Amino acid sequence: MTEASDTAPGSTYKRVLLKISGEALMGDTGFGLHPPTVQRIAKEVQSVHATGVEICMVIGGGNIFRGLAGSAQGMERTTADYMGMLATVMNALAMQSALEELGVFTRVISAIPMDQVCEPYIRRRAVRHLEKKRVCIFAAGTGNPYFTTDTAATLRANEMACQAIFKGTKVDGVYDMDPVKHPEAKRYDRISYDDVLAKNLKVMDASAIALARDNKLPIIVFSLDEPGGFLGILAGKGTYTIVD
Ligand code: UDP
Repeated sequence: MTEASDTAPGSTYKRVLLKISGEALMGDTGFGLHPPTVQRIAKEVQSVHATGVEICMVIGGGNIFRGLAGSAQGMERTTADYMGMLATVMNALAMQSALEELGVFTRVISAIPMDQVCEPYIRRRAVRHLEKKRVCIFAAGTGNPYFTTDTAATLRANEMACQAIFKGTKVDGVYDMDPVKHPEAKRYDRISYDDVLAKNLKVMDASAIALARDNKLPIIVFSLDEPGGFLGILAGKGTYTIVD
């Protein structure tokens, strides 16, 4: 095992990106948004924000629409992907509403301009929002079909000079096989980008992992059900896997 880097959990963060899937917002409902779940995640973000850490967020859209599912049903792929990107905007607006209810100032920043709804993505402007301690929720993915919000998260984390990506999932880290199907699955404390790619582990898609690797951006995978929450993980408590 290598020495922990100064961007590992437990170090002092100035700016981080939290990536959650759309499905994380649907609770047990099977589709769409579950307001109490959205509020619970917003509270976790609020508690980290209160410590002075600058926070970027990227939320997926899989609870509403996935491009691949659309194209499997005969829809043209790029159109289906745009629908998926629009789904992420809805999730971002729901999170904005929940955060502002808690008194946390936010901006939803879309890769696809829709000025009546949210801000367009302008890098310097987004950086300024972060400096002013506004939570920036990046919506509409990368703005391009054939990508995922994992790649969007890695792209924005690089552009915003975040020290790490925190990927909140249903499981408490990266396993050698699916821990839901295989109870004997082994969790990694730490794993390299190359091993994730070589073993084809389902952490993030390959383009996101490669982009993180090329820019030495650590990815910390943790469970959104972790008792100490996002705040605990940032402090290095609880269970997680670091990909670096
Ligand atoms: N999407 C896209 N380009 C992007 C990001 C997302 O086309 O840069 C589309 C794609 O169709 C994807 C959908 O948006 O299926 C929802 O995003 P994702 O699957 O990443 O959401 P998650 O699985 O994180 O909920």
